[in-house]
Amino acid sequence: MFKRSGSANLTALLKKAESFHGHLGPFLVIGVRMGLAGLRELKARRNERGLHITVMLKYSVPFSCIIDGIQVATNCTIGNKKLMLKKSSKLMAKFRLENGRPITVKVNPVAFNRLKDKLLAKNIPSKEVRNLAKTIASMPEEELFEIN
Ligand SMILES: [Zn+2]
Repeated sequence: MFKRSGSANLTALLKKAESFHGHLGPFLVIGVRMGLAGLRELKARRNERGLHITVMLKYSVPFSCIIDGIQVATNCTIGNKKLMLKKSSKLMAKFRLENGRPITVKVNPVAFNRLKDKLLAKNIPSKEVRNLAKTIASMPEEELFEIN
């Protein structure tokens, strides 16, 4: 169901994220994938000592759903103070290990604009929301993110 970037890891994390967040939506999936990409790029483990994440986004639903996805994928949370929020019109997260070069994972504006009407539609049936979440889950990473 979550083929392509759909490792067993992603599928398991999406389940966990859904249970934590209360529902499975596209922005939650974006967050989980952002978290996984950030960890991979830094060669970091979840909740690794010295790992810090700054999430930059518009602090309102559905954008804020990304935060829970990142928290579940990385175990860096607001509560353990390893995750910080910065209000921004962008949609990105910066990952840094102590004294290391930070890397940023940004939602590719092209992909976002292509899906924007669906992503931001209000009152769409929950089945469609789940389908959109699956679309995001199986989208090739290089289409979904710009990583720097
Ligand atoms: Zn949500």
